[in-house]
Amino acid sequence: MPIATVNPATGETLKTYDPLGEEEIERRLATAEAAFRHHRTTSFAERAQLLHRAADLLEADAQDIGRIMTTEMGKPVKQARAEAAKCAKAMRWYADHAEELLADEEGAEADAEDSGASRVLVRYRPLGPVLAVMPWNFPLWQVVRFAAPALMAGNVGLLKHASNVPQTALYLEDLFRRAGYPEGCFQTLLIGSGAVEDILRDPRVRAATLTGSEPAGRSVASVAGDEIKKTVLELGGSDPYVVMPSADLDRAVSTAVTARVQNNGQSCIAAKRFIVHTDVFESFAERFTAAMEALTVGDPLDEGTDVGPVATEQGRDDLVELVDDAIESGATVLCGGELPEGDGWYYPPTVLADITPEMRIHHEETFGPVATLYRAADLDEAVAIANDSPFGLSSNVWTRDEAETGRFVRDLEAGGVFLNGMTASHPAFPFGGIKRSGYGRELSGHGIREFCNITTVWHGA
Ligand code: NAP
Repeated sequence: MPIATVNPATGETLKTYDPLGEEEIERRLATAEAAFRHHRTTSFAERAQLLHRAADLLEADAQDIGRIMTTEMGKPVKQARAEAAKCAKAMRWYADHAEELLADEEGAEADAEDSGASRVLVRYRPLGPVLAVMPWNFPLWQVVRFAAPALMAGNVGLLKHASNVPQTALYLEDLFRRAGYPEGCFQTLLIGSGAVEDILRDPRVRAATLTGSEPAGRSVASVAGDEIKKTVLELGGSDPYVVMPSADLDRAVSTAVTARVQNNGQSCIAAKRFIVHTDVFESFAERFTAAMEALTVGDPLDEGTDVGPVATEQGRDDLVELVDDAIESGATVLCGGELPEGDGWYYPPTVLADITPEMRIHHEETFGPVATLYRAADLDEAVAIANDSPFGLSSNVWTRDEAETGRFVRDLEAGGVFLNGMTASHPAFPFGGIKRSGYGRELSGHGIREFCNITTVWHGA
């Protein structure tokens, strides 16, 4: 894929970039290693000052970087600005909490004595340069939720961003430079995915994190495994959204729409499969479909737009294939499902019912504004449908029944259970999945410790 900004609202190529050559990559790796030697010795207070400054700059830039993101990948511009604000908040959270999250842990006296020590400490030390392979869908957020904890822990970052968001990728490097980080603490490598393997095999790179598709995750994890390097993988999702009879249906419907179409339906944690108890199925289906049909689809730079185009032509083609396969196999179209005419890679909000396990859409991720509806006879069937997926990122449940709540929390196979609301990330809480949604966690104390050398410091008696 060429490294280029192609506006998904028009199909027009706005900017292209040459990928870095071998010499430049070598220079960048050497710079990262040198930067790490210094950065690892800095205090939490020094690191926090830099990250707070980056947060201030990002907030001031929200309008401009918002427009850039929108022209690169098509998200509604108001959502792009909100993404910038969310990133600034996460930076501040890590700047304020990293020292406490990574404080030395004193081993219990009795255990220390039992091991023959006068004292045992657990210390969290940084690992070194970490390679981050990132996707285009939240082009700022995905990077910041890696970079903020990594930099606070004393690591340095090497970003290989998706090839369709080069301007946002370069903006991030510039942001950290302007905030005062020494050269090499955070670098953007404009490279294609073919260049990732050699960089990952380089001994100066100590670990990798990838957010993206299953094939990309498999490829990076196998190389890292071969090199015995730590990885965190945040991959796809097909989150269930369960609605039980006791739910507040008004809120369940309006939240369902946002949960499905935010970011033009291209979010790993978007609700994608709507599993509705038979007692409220008709009512939910009717109201949800009406609300999906009422959304404003159009130019993502317009403030009134709810749903913009799919980010790439390939992405829209994949969506069309999945929907067409479902329709040919007997799915009922409640709304949408037809490709619009005109420029750009638009796809209408679509609701499909009568989904069966034979359809590709039952097992694959729909990355666009397409919802599938399932009818469940009872709680057991709702759980069974929800878990019948190769993915296990997050899950959403609407019920006001306490016993049901307990069952869902116990039985849903996912890295999150969001009750009477929709899945969203927050810097203080762990984020990540199981099954083919990946492994490891981002955000919170769990996220910052993923790329730390957890060191036992044993003092002889
Ligand atoms: P993608 O094609 O996998 O791309 C993600 C990143 O991986 C890009 O930088 C891409 O570079 C790179 N890449 C692709 N193939 C690679 C390979 N074989 N070796 C090394 N790097 C490779 O994914 P996408 O289509 O951009 O993003 C959508 C996917 O990301 C969805 O499945 C979504 O659910 C998932 N996602 C997950 C989370 C989460 O937190 N779990 C969050 C957001 C998105 P190029 O652009 O140069 O190909």
